[in-house]
Amino acid sequence: MAATLLDGKALGAKVREEVAAAVAELDHVGLATILVGDDAASHIYIDLKQKAATNAGMEARDIKFTGAASEEEVLAAIADVNADDAIDGLLVQLPLPGHLDENRIIAAIAPEKDIDGIHPMNAGRLYLGRPTLVPGTPLGIMRMLDEYEIPLEGARAVVIGRSAIVGKPMAHLLLQRNATVTICHSRTRDLSRHTLNADVLVAAVGSPHLVTPDMVKEGATVVDVGMNRGEGKKVLGDVDPAVIERAAYMTPVPGGVGPMTIAMVLENTVTAAKLRQAAAVAPAGN
Ligand code: NAD
Repeated sequence: MAATLLDGKALGAKVREEVAAAVAELDHVGLATILVGDDAASHIYIDLKQKAATNAGMEARDIKFTGAASEEEVLAAIADVNADDAIDGLLVQLPLPGHLDENRIIAAIAPEKDIDGIHPMNAGRLYLGRPTLVPGTPLGIMRMLDEYEIPLEGARAVVIGRSAIVGKPMAHLLLQRNATVTICHSRTRDLSRHTLNADVLVAAVGSPHLVTPDMVKEGATVVDVGMNRGEGKKVLGDVDPAVIERAAYMTPVPGGVGPMTIAMVLENTVTAAKLRQAAAVAPAGN
């Protein structure tokens, strides 16, 4: 029997409605994005995020630099946003041009405004299992798994990919929910030996149709993060669509993980705004 598709488009729209309602209740929510250079895909992502933030009723500030911008200029813009009380969330679009030190720039973002969850402070808090701002893609995947009531406690979860923005935070979120987690990567030997054990399989690789039906356990939940450019404008996932015949649940590409990511970045902005407002009214400690 073909898998049930996890509808990220519908759930993403629902999350965006929830975000808009939360924004309406708060006095003001502001998001700023910083983009450096002229990478076409990055411009599209930033435009989508800006539009989604505006539609949710947020103030959306769009800061753009040419590829010639110096590190000091970008750091100065980050410092301005950090100090600006009207802005709750700041997102620096990656990748940055090669002459900029990505680690230095990420570390300059105020952790409480880091809606991409990539500052070492937030990554560390996630590692320790403490509440924090978490990258939108794995957060959206957790939301989807919960919406469809996929059991995680004691489940065997396999994550393919170990990037800081998807694979690693994904593994930690699954671990927090008491799954038994295996992380596979480019040096993993005999990938299918691991994937065939997975009750929940997350592919975040960037390799079109890497996961084939013979690598998937019958009845597994398969989450496809991959967004690979196929011929023309077609987007291909990391999972072969034929896996639908073996899985019980599967995310489509497009319309699965992608629409959840932006929705969760907006949700993170609301979370950041609430935390900042709560901190502003809390009595000073001694
Ligand atoms: P990345 O290049 O930073 O990481 C890829 C990971 O895959 C690495 O950890 C590497 O070890 C692993 N890998 C590479 N080849 C492998 C192989 N043959 N077997 C096993 N592991 C292998 O990529 P990323 O930023 O994590 O993104 C992964 C994919 O997800 C890309 O297609 C990207 O476009 C997509 N993506 C989608 C969204 C979304 O919203 N849908 C968000 C972020 C990333």
